[in-house]
Amino acid sequence: MLLDKNAIQETHYEVLNVKEDANYEEIRANYRSAILSLHPDKLLKTSETSSSSNQTDEGRFLKVQKAWEILSDSSSRLSYDNELRSSRWDILAAEVAEELSLQDAIIKDDGEALELFYQCRCGDYFSVDSLELQKMRYSLLREGSRISLLNVDALPGSVILPCGSCSLKARLVISVDDS
Ligand SMILES: [Zn+2]
Repeated sequence: MLLDKNAIQETHYEVLNVKEDANYEEIRANYRSAILSLHPDKLLKTSETSSSSNQTDEGRFLKVQKAWEILSDSSSRLSYDNELRSSRWDILAAEVAEELSLQDAIIKDDGEALELFYQCRCGDYFSVDSLELQKMRYSLLREGSRISLLNVDALPGSVILPCGSCSLKARLVISVDDS
């Protein structure tokens, strides 16, 4: 694991100041502006008189470059995403407030995706939608009013849901339902 759990580092997304679901074009645009703001032509001339601020710039430049290398390639981005997710999973697992089951969900269908809500004790909601679940290899199925989750790997698991307002998290427990 490349990520240090004790000191959460800036993610490659944060380095480029893009959302984690940003598309290639957005990532490229931010990469270009980040590089421009770091004056790469200046960096090339700093070897003789490298001041500390130039070194910081150079460190930044390398970070931006590294982030771009990872995120511009779809397969390395995918494995980075998985790594990011599992490291967060470990962090979040320590702070989980409650366990939820699929049957407790309030379900909203916006036409494109099914969204699951659970009320948090702060008044806001824990939520996850079927598109997010799909990225985690879970398919949400709806038959009438009955909702079930299909795990592509057919293994039981759980998904951590953050609250929209407070710092509480809940764990949605997914049991493999073979009925
Ligand atoms: Zn809350």
